[in-house]
Amino acid sequence: MIPVKKFKEILLCKYGEIILKGANRKFFEDTLLKELRRRSARFGRFDIYYSQSTIYIVPLDEESDLDGMYASASKVFGIVAITRAAECEKNMDAILELAKTYIPDFLTGASTFKCDARRSDKTFEKDSMEISAEVGGALLEVMPHLKVDVHHPDITVRIEIREQAAYIHAGQQHAAGGMPVGSNGKGLLLLSGGIDSPVAGYMMAKRGMRLEAVHFESFPYTSELAREKVFRLADQMSDYTGNLLVHVVSLTHIQEVLMRDCEEDYFTLLLRRFMMRIASEIAIRNGCKALITGESLGQVASQTIEAITSTEDRASLPVLRPCIGLDKEEIIQISRRIGTFDISIEPYEDCCTVFTPRHPRTKPDLDKVRAQEAKTDFDTLVGEALESAYRIWTGPDRKERGENHG
Ligand code: ATP
Ligand code: MG
Repeated sequence: MIPVKKFKEILLCKYGEIILKGANRKFFEDTLLKELRRRSARFGRFDIYYSQSTIYIVPLDEESDLDGMYASASKVFGIVAITRAAECEKNMDAILELAKTYIPDFLTGASTFKCDARRSDKTFEKDSMEISAEVGGALLEVMPHLKVDVHHPDITVRIEIREQAAYIHAGQQHAAGGMPVGSNGKGLLLLSGGIDSPVAGYMMAKRGMRLEAVHFESFPYTSELAREKVFRLADQMSDYTGNLLVHVVSLTHIQEVLMRDCEEDYFTLLLRRFMMRIASEIAIRNGCKALITGESLGQVASQTIEAITSTEDRASLPVLRPCIGLDKEEIIQISRRIGTFDISIEPYEDCCTVFTPRHPRTKPDLDKVRAQEAKTDFDTLVGEALESAYRIWTGPDRKERGENHG
């Protein structure tokens, strides 16, 4: 027989204090609530509200999927810690009873613990020290092999006496951190199929940027599978960023013109200048205030400081490069953590790798790059590419439908 749960479980989310000071506080809190409420629809019915620097996620019926909501909420930027917690009435008997039934599961495998009580309701019958001591005593009764260690406990049991009820929990974990998506403007991510650009997007979303993405392809030199891979990367990123709109732009004609009319050594540099200008146009048309790339200084020929200078020359918005000072290994670690690595290493070609010069310029002279570019009808080519653009929504809905997956 499945034991009937005697307690009501909810989620408590803590958000970073530092970013929330002053007049912005309410804005941050409301942005977080909106994002959590949007996500919760997939997991059932929940009441979601905040009180005293904590967000409460309360399931409204038995069918609501608390585990699913936990996993999703722990990837919401702005939330620094998350825990399941059990709720009871605000009296000592109820708290001790709940501690004895709810907490032992969390202490399995631990040798030491401590209790940490907080009361925001100062009228409560006991003070924090007394609550901690009594709950500790009750837990030792049911788990006599454990020891209390107030300095380095394996597990901390927390008791919170709030206005509306008492809560007890012992499984607090770090969550996504950062700032709520949407609290720092919108940026356009140049999303290739590689390892670096999804990480760059994740890093800027973590600082509160809402993202759109642009992907450049070179059909038929690049394949349908390469495009699908990019959509799956965007789906994966959307766990953090929320639904992600991907603009897809064809560079085929531009690449053919460059091959025909320009010196091979400048080919990649010129292509990247086209990318920057097209991305700038798309960004401006869609209210994005910056471009984001996965460039890392010196990683490849097109990422020396001279090459970056040449690329940036054609951007009309700030270009954010959050990976610029990271080693490849550090970028890989992040991409593994956010789940994009395994998709990124699938071996489909990218438009940048289709026509790679044998001797790319690593320290290009900007005047020479501009002279090469002047051999093309830059504005017309950019205009044509923009006309070829189409948009695909990626994210949880698409993931659930299994649509477009290669
Ligand atoms: P990544 O691993 O992100 O592909 P990379 O190390 O392969 O990066 P490059 O190919 O030089 O480096 O690209 C540098 C940046 O330019 C990428 O991080 C990405 O932001 C952008 N970029 C490159 N190719 C494309 C593409 N096909 N579509 C959109 N953006 C691109
Ligand atoms: Mg690449």
